[in-house]
Amino acid sequence: MSVSSSQVAALLAVVALLAAGGTYLLMSSTTEPTTASTATITQTSTVTTTQISTSTATKTQVSTITTTTTQTSTTTLTKTAEASSLEVTPLGHATVMITLGEYTIYVDPYGIDFSTSPKADLILITHPHPDHLSTSSIQALSKDGTELIAPESAKSSLPQAITIQAGEEKSVDGVKVKAVAAYNLERRNQRGDLFHPEGFGVAYVVSIGGKNILFAGDTECTSEIQSLEDIDIAFLPIDGVYTMTPEEAAQCYIEIMPKVAIPYHQNREDPNQVKDLLTSTPSIKVEIYQLP
Ligand SMILES: [Zn+2]
Repeated sequence: MSVSSSQVAALLAVVALLAAGGTYLLMSSTTEPTTASTATITQTSTVTTTQISTSTATKTQVSTITTTTTQTSTTTLTKTAEASSLEVTPLGHATVMITLGEYTIYVDPYGIDFSTSPKADLILITHPHPDHLSTSSIQALSKDGTELIAPESAKSSLPQAITIQAGEEKSVDGVKVKAVAAYNLERRNQRGDLFHPEGFGVAYVVSIGGKNILFAGDTECTSEIQSLEDIDIAFLPIDGVYTMTPEEAAQCYIEIMPKVAIPYHQNREDPNQVKDLLTSTPSIKVEIYQLP
């Protein structure tokens, strides 16, 4: 895909990683009309400074990221037209929490103690393998009105879920959830079966707070994932046994061209490999989390 200058101007998102735990704090202000689009990340506390400049016809967009030394992840996006506060927080293996104000979404909650976590308004399950579908985690996060979206393959474990299949889109509480085909191309178990055959699981593109966030689940770089466009933040798996290797993920990121890349589902692989492989693609900012 390619990112047009107008998309850049409209969606320019610059995210910086904090030290321990990783924190995003994104504050963005738009001034117009002018002649260039510039994003400047300034980190006041502990980490790095990054500057992204793109030339566009009519707008100047200045994004300043200021990080603090807190232990949580915070992405705060402020626009002139619409003020909102979007946080995207990787919590573990393939578990990510998204909050927009009071609204909370979890993707594949698993493997951690959620007893003190904010309850979920929406839970998305990519597929029913035990490192993605944990009924106890879902139970711990559920409250009255919690919505659950999962593929048909998870229906027996989650009869209450709204089912979705690749290519479908659902809207829940104004959040757009698009399911994308996620499957293995070549990785198989000892019996010779693909770990994740086509139709078993899905990836999700969640559109919330003006951002499109990809959660690839367990997949290789399928044509459906390659052809995604306008992705602001992309989570791709890199474990290399069940899903992509870091090398394949780096190539897949180049196909998708998200603004921010966050390798997850790491097992023994090092997400820094993805960052190293993408140093010559500066338009993709790779954020590193050490996830189990
Ligand atoms: Zn998995």
